[in-house]
Amino acid sequence: MRNTLAEIGHAKLHAGTLPSEQLLKVWFSVGTGNPCTACEQPILPLQTECEPQYYDERPPIRLHVACHGVWEAERRRRRDKGRLVANGDLYGPLLEILDVGIQITGADMGNIQVHAPGTGALEIVVHQGFEAEFLDFFATVQDHTTACGTAMATGQRIIVDDVADNLIFAGSEARDVMLRAGARAVQSTPLWSRTGDLVGMLSTHYRRAGRPAERDLHRLDVLSRLAADYIDFARTE
Ligand SMILES: [Zn+2]
Repeated sequence: MRNTLAEIGHAKLHAGTLPSEQLLKVWFSVGTGNPCTACEQPILPLQTECEPQYYDERPPIRLHVACHGVWEAERRRRRDKGRLVANGDLYGPLLEILDVGIQITGADMGNIQVHAPGTGALEIVVHQGFEAEFLDFFATVQDHTTACGTAMATGQRIIVDDVADNLIFAGSEARDVMLRAGARAVQSTPLWSRTGDLVGMLSTHYRRAGRPAERDLHRLDVLSRLAADYIDFARTE
């Protein structure tokens, strides 16, 4: 039932039947049998009717209390999309941060991992440009035969300018998976909370051997600060 209502709310918001703007206030009254704008069922005299009021003139909307709640939640979810962590949802903000990180360092692919405090492993939460083999292989990283694993172990940014010829990857399966994914170079930057805990890793990958310019790495530092704050904030929520 809740799913159905949520779907209706989502569809009507999308269609514009239910507005997405900020409300001025909501009037509550006794139902008069008029249909609910969301579910289209009558709001009966024993039920409470919600009538949202806006800053501008528009046709009246009447809602059941439950339908109003669903619409309100959906409206809030939309508003917060891409903003600072909404309800602990890290996905949107981190995907945007990753996208910027890829752009400013001229990367071809990238991912952000979160450090799982329980297992001590790095787990991919958002990624861009990778196929299933890479994502399966690196879904959880704990060892040091990777750039991110080494960055986790050393606490330092690790830059591998040529995956095909680097000690970190020497003789490892990770090397082959990287090269098959077209990742010839990689940088991994640890994400630190303000209290000094490792909370994740921001990695960008390059199809050509080489390293990002120092200027780009500085910009990546700023971005990493932001990513760390998002993750840390979501954790303490
Ligand atoms: Zn309704």
